[in-house]
Amino acid sequence: MNQILTVQRVPPTIFVLLSILLILFRQKIEDFSTVFEAIAEYLSTDLPYKLSPDDVYLTVGCAQAIEVVLTVLARPGANILLPRPGYPYYEARAAFSHIEVRHFDLLPENGWEVDLDAVEALADENTVAMVIINPGNPCGNVYSYQHLEKVAETAKKLGILVIADEVYDHLTFGCNPFVPMGVFGETVPVLTLGSISKRWIVPGWRLGWLVTSDPNGILKETKIVDCIIGCLNISSDPATFIQGAILQILEKTKGDFFKKIIDILRQDADIIYQRIREIGCITCPHKPEGSMFVMVKLDLSLLEDIKDDMDFCFKLAKEESVIVLPGVSVGLKNWLRITFAIEPSSLEEALERIKSFCKRHAKKK
Ligand SMILES: *Cc1c(COP(=O)(O)O)cnc(C)c1O
Repeated sequence: MNQILTVQRVPPTIFVLLSILLILFRQKIEDFSTVFEAIAEYLSTDLPYKLSPDDVYLTVGCAQAIEVVLTVLARPGANILLPRPGYPYYEARAAFSHIEVRHFDLLPENGWEVDLDAVEALADENTVAMVIINPGNPCGNVYSYQHLEKVAETAKKLGILVIADEVYDHLTFGCNPFVPMGVFGETVPVLTLGSISKRWIVPGWRLGWLVTSDPNGILKETKIVDCIIGCLNISSDPATFIQGAILQILEKTKGDFFKKIIDILRQDADIIYQRIREIGCITCPHKPEGSMFVMVKLDLSLLEDIKDDMDFCFKLAKEESVIVLPGVSVGLKNWLRITFAIEPSSLEEALERIKSFCKRHAKKK
């Protein structure tokens, strides 16, 4: 009611002006078909071939890209290979599409690389794809060119697609630079998923993409592209004003915006890696090199009255107001996932609290 009253009070000239602006704005979007071109351009910079705007599908965040992929790949008896630890949205979405999930391990001692022997052992004629998340959530891994090449060769050998979740693209602060999986699109068809949520820190803006990194056109030939189009035809699109802004966002964001974020994350990674060493019951097998997470292992034998990771997280939240994620929720029981995308001073404080929590609950010798 209030809204109706407000609208009536706006003079008609304003409406006319707004309509003209809207028409001009739409015109501008359509003239360029900018959105698709901008994303194709953005993602092509690191590739040995050029993506076409036709390779790009807009989604409501990376989450919808996952949803579409797992809807499109579903068929009776199909299975998919997912990383453990991983991002549980994949398991949930696969279950919803009746796709059987098989897990391969990520190896902490190898910088959380994919256990490719396990991938080969798990796959059969009903395997449709494998998922890699790089830079990784929850492990903070950044895979080398060589490792990604091996992933591509393994997938090729097995005759499966690679789904590359690159929602943390370019959020790297270690030795390995970010290499998009699409680099190996000539070897194996890759479905690249991404969004502006993480790199631009605007998760609520809900603009993502699903991109076919497939210069040989295998996804077109096998009609997977038709299925993607069909699936998106019955879904909603990202808000038009975010679509209208994407060109500016991708092309005009200043370098120091990213540099500031990376500098903070690098500093945070150093802090967390150093300070975890001072805590006896927690070990960090691999320093995070990308994204904003680290997986650390709990040694319950050193703790008096903590049952498991879930118990640890509940008590830590209650006693110290520090929130970390129990590893069981990402597939690794009695580990913890720590998110470190905060001011270094707050991170120091949080780690200090975790340390005193562990001291208080330590087994008396
Ligand atoms: C956050 C996240 C997503 C979802 O991204 P949105 O763009 O916010 O939908 C997908 N995959 C991983 C690994 C994530 O961490």
